[in-house]
Amino acid sequence: MRRGTNSLEVKILNRNRVFRYVNGQSETSMPDISAALGISGPTVLTIVKELKDAGVVEEVGELKSTGGRKAKAIAAVRDVRYAIGIDITANHVGLVYTDLAKKALKHDRIRKTFSCEDNYFRELGGILGTFVKDNRIPEDRIEGVGIALPGIVDRQKNILTQSHILKIENVSLERWANAIPYPCELLNDANAAAITEDVCCRKPENSMVYLSLSNSVGGAAVSAAEMKGNDGIKNNFDGGEMYMGDNWRSGEFGHMVIHPEGKTCYCGKKGCLDAYCSALNLAALEEGNLKAFFDKMESGHGEYSRIWEEYLQNLAIAIDNLRMCFDCEVVLGGYVGNYMEPYLERLRTLVAAKNIFGGSGEYVRVCRCREEASAYGAALYQIERYIAKI
Ligand SMILES: [Zn+2]
Repeated sequence: MRRGTNSLEVKILNRNRVFRYVNGQSETSMPDISAALGISGPTVLTIVKELKDAGVVEEVGELKSTGGRKAKAIAAVRDVRYAIGIDITANHVGLVYTDLAKKALKHDRIRKTFSCEDNYFRELGGILGTFVKDNRIPEDRIEGVGIALPGIVDRQKNILTQSHILKIENVSLERWANAIPYPCELLNDANAAAITEDVCCRKPENSMVYLSLSNSVGGAAVSAAEMKGNDGIKNNFDGGEMYMGDNWRSGEFGHMVIHPEGKTCYCGKKGCLDAYCSALNLAALEEGNLKAFFDKMESGHGEYSRIWEEYLQNLAIAIDNLRMCFDCEVVLGGYVGNYMEPYLERLRTLVAAKNIFGGSGEYVRVCRCREEASAYGAALYQIERYIAKI
């Protein structure tokens, strides 16, 4: 028998919906909230009072009247909490911080070679401390730090189970948490980047597959599943639902085989997408400088144009496979995704030719958030968790 939603749950849900609505507007009024969410005026009044008492909503003057009594203008207190995201790569540390408005308030990228030694973690703590100080982020208002890592993260056990790029296995959250004086959480880097795209750019009615084309190829599937309670009330979450799999290994699109008996992948299998579409394949031609590859190709390097066309052909196979599995938009991100815009029409032509259901390749697009997407997503994850508790 399905359990009905009790009145306390409805109350909590409504309070959260009201806050999310207020947070989504620059300013609003109680009559507006009531009309937009279908919650009675007296209930909205009670909820707004609770939110004001909690310090997350405030009065900010009066709204312009269209006749009759002027309504009090209310707005979210967006600087009540901050969150920081850190993206760990083999050679860099990316940092972003945000508040309840969810804009990236500052991003930074520092050269730092990863090692699993205590020294590294201490220095990482120092980098974070400097970032907090330089940006004058009030320490008592830091909700937490999200740490994006290039590997499989078991979020239940809080452990990085394996990372080919960092060359480590089974490293627990404590290693990071011991060096960072705020609550920490580990996330997979492609999942974190997908959170950014999800929260900032996905249309609520559309599902999305995010394909990250960085030094390894990974991704995430985000469902637009309508999140309605048993009472039919829409939860109004700002993000969709990410499919994580039974072992936290979903979205490992890099190890889909696109050419049986093809090139050997670092995982040991033959013909994986990663062996063909990792950013390293292109960057390696220019001593690790991906930009130089694209610059040279643009200025007429024939061999690079041929390599790039082959890259797009291989990518199109993978994108078509994803479309067949998920039937939704495919968003290209990661290092190569950042350079994809000028070549998108060519890629769309290639994928359209493969689609057995017909239609154009319009379902493929390039990610919209390109600066430190993984660090940003890791920060957004912490902010979303805070908002979910309001
Ligand atoms: Zn593989």
